[in-house]
Amino acid sequence: MQFGRIFGITLRIDWSWLIVFGLMTWSLSGAPGPFAHLPERTRIVTAAIAVLLLFACVIAHELAHALTARRFGIDTASITLFVFGGVSSLRSEPNSPRAEALISLAGPLTSFVLALIFFAVASVVRVGDAAATAMLYLAFVNALLGAFNLLPAYPLDGSHVFHAIVWHVNKNRARATGFTAGMTRAVGGAFVLFGILQLAGGYLVSGVWLELLAWFMLRAGQAEWQYEMILRPMQAMRVVDVADPVGASLPLKANCQAALDRMIATQHRALPVVSNDELSGMVTLADFAKLDGRALDDAAVTSIMTRAADLVSVAASEPAFAAFQKLANSSHSQLPVLDEHAHLVGFVTRDTVIRSLLFAREQQMLGPISRR
Ligand SMILES: [Zn+2]
Repeated sequence: MQFGRIFGITLRIDWSWLIVFGLMTWSLSGAPGPFAHLPERTRIVTAAIAVLLLFACVIAHELAHALTARRFGIDTASITLFVFGGVSSLRSEPNSPRAEALISLAGPLTSFVLALIFFAVASVVRVGDAAATAMLYLAFVNALLGAFNLLPAYPLDGSHVFHAIVWHVNKNRARATGFTAGMTRAVGGAFVLFGILQLAGGYLVSGVWLELLAWFMLRAGQAEWQYEMILRPMQAMRVVDVADPVGASLPLKANCQAALDRMIATQHRALPVVSNDELSGMVTLADFAKLDGRALDDAAVTSIMTRAADLVSVAASEPAFAAFQKLANSSHSQLPVLDEHAHLVGFVTRDTVIRSLLFAREQQMLGPISRR
């Protein structure tokens, strides 16, 4: 749900935040809470105002990330508030450890500064009892927000600070991500244990909350690792870089007997039918069912093949990842690769995908290889 724009950045709110708003207002205005000593009506209003201010503080935290990112030439598409706080979606990634560290630190730093301001105002300015309580509460929550976000676990800010330090030290971004993902598992695992202890002690709410946070961290760590190992290296690959060359093909005039012989000889379950390098169609073993009693010698391969126009094909210049997605979404085990003149230049198969993933992964772990 979009609710505003600031500095050219779209502000969004996830429905889960509305639940948090309700829950926090309700729990804050409840009996064992910071506002318990206030009269009932004041209590609910103060709690609601405090939670709304907290909401503004979370936006300020995220804006600090976004504006620091902007200094490094990285735009922020949107800021979304959801159950665990806020998240800024940067349009690109920081390309140096320094940028990553500063962008990540800006948020918690802002939260700490806000905590100090609330604390100072509450203790210096003579405000009413309700306002002072609310401000002390906001000081406490902002300090907590800053500290919690510094934990070295994905997707928290601390994970990126940790990642930036490891990246700076070993000069390998992918390996730094591996370390940080491992750190995330450790922190997430500690939260799981902590949560279990809380649950065993009968503290249901905090126990469930800790388990939820643990699940959130472990899932984010897994996602970061997969992104680093698979998506990032694949972004640079084109279809033409990964495609298998055309091993065997059939001429347009071939009959089905020749097609079958060629398949058996080459161990290919599918063969392209080409004329002048141009793809006319594909014939697979399954297509022989279309013979319907006709003799292999008498039937032209063109009578059973799938015509090029009906095939899902990929362009050689397309990003490899897009081709892999097409392959995953199609029922075929291979997709023909065509160049700009519709000439068949190769195939993308499931084997191609696995091979290039493994290659990308290994290359990523080695880091940039110098040409010298
Ligand atoms: Zn943050």
